[in-house]
Amino acid sequence: MKTVVLKFGGTSVGSIDRIKKVCKIISSYKKKKNKVIVISSAMSGVTNELVNKSKLISNNFDKAEYDTLLSTGEQVSCALIAGRLKHIGFKSRSWLSWQIPIITEGPYSAARINRVVSKELLSYLKSGGIPVITGFQGINKSYRLTTIGRSGSDATAIMLAKFIKADECIIYTDVDGVYTTDPRQYKKAKKIKKIFYDEMLEMASLGSKVMQPTSVQDAKLNKIDIQVKSSFNRKPGTLITNLSKSFSDRIITGISSTKHDAKITIEGVKDRPGVAASIFKPLSQNLINVDMVVQNISLNGKETDLTFTIKSDDLRKTEKFIKQNKKISYKKLSFDKDVSKVSIIGVGMITAPGITYRMFKALASKKINILVISTSEIKISVLVATNQVKKAIAVLHKEFKLD
Ligand code: ASP
Ligand code: MG
Repeated sequence: MKTVVLKFGGTSVGSIDRIKKVCKIISSYKKKKNKVIVISSAMSGVTNELVNKSKLISNNFDKAEYDTLLSTGEQVSCALIAGRLKHIGFKSRSWLSWQIPIITEGPYSAARINRVVSKELLSYLKSGGIPVITGFQGINKSYRLTTIGRSGSDATAIMLAKFIKADECIIYTDVDGVYTTDPRQYKKAKKIKKIFYDEMLEMASLGSKVMQPTSVQDAKLNKIDIQVKSSFNRKPGTLITNLSKSFSDRIITGISSTKHDAKITIEGVKDRPGVAASIFKPLSQNLINVDMVVQNISLNGKETDLTFTIKSDDLRKTEKFIKQNKKISYKKLSFDKDVSKVSIIGVGMITAPGITYRMFKALASKKINILVISTSEIKISVLVATNQVKKAIAVLHKEFKLD
């Protein structure tokens, strides 16, 4: 008998009708003789409403009360699911995180699940019951409710799968899996059948919003395979799994792009040890995230040009910090607001030579100018003008045979 963890996101339980549909999905697993554990998010929109209410009460709302408030959304959806399952003839009950308990560590709103006490759950499963557990929350040492970060129900499902030693963890959402690139941007995007944790982490942090990156990290650390599926149709989903020796001959798994990046170039900076550090220090102190960086040395070797990217929202602040900075002297400062990063991602590139060349050649064939380049073991990123992103994705998708 297999044990499966089924997690449902906010839109999957977004209305009474949706909850009834979700209960049909749950019953299909139960009928196949599985032990089934359900984790649910709050009904869509509910958590945002609670956030807004807290802001109306105080512009400095108490952190512990904030988590207590936000965790109520899941209590509603879980009670409704369990009630519906009983209505259609199953043994079921809701479980709030403190009743299990799910023990967390760390600050309010960003706590991490440390331990799940599984004894009672296991015997309930054995007796044929379907536990319906609130995602996104736990309790801390002081028995206060905590939440684990927006969209955190994924992480709850993964940690439950770990502590209960489940055979499968299935995340039901409103998209039917992970695509080679954003299907709204590029019609020929294809669903990926199998993706490795590291690739998924790159895809997730580079802007494909199927799963929260910290949940993928949890899955990777605990070696929990995740199946991502839609609760709106019966199409097969995407498996997120550990890198196996016999991975396919595919080189590139996906292409992602960012929005709202900005590029800053400081020309003619006096070159001496410590300049880069003194430029970036005030940025890091002010939590401005610097992404791609290139530095080139001028012909006389005494000056350097430095180019880097940040989020466009941080542009004004960054400009101010550079102009105020007495530790550096330079000739010219310039900005470009309309740039985006396009990345190709795939563990296959570790062993395949010539990928960088193929990427650059493909972009050149469409006269796309590369502004900045950065690479890691499983990713090559280029910065291009935002109005060329669509073209870049199309030509790369074709070049790496993802069409
Ligand atoms: N309901 C929470 C949120 O909206 C948790 C989740 O959806 O996973 O962030
Ligand atoms: Mg949600």
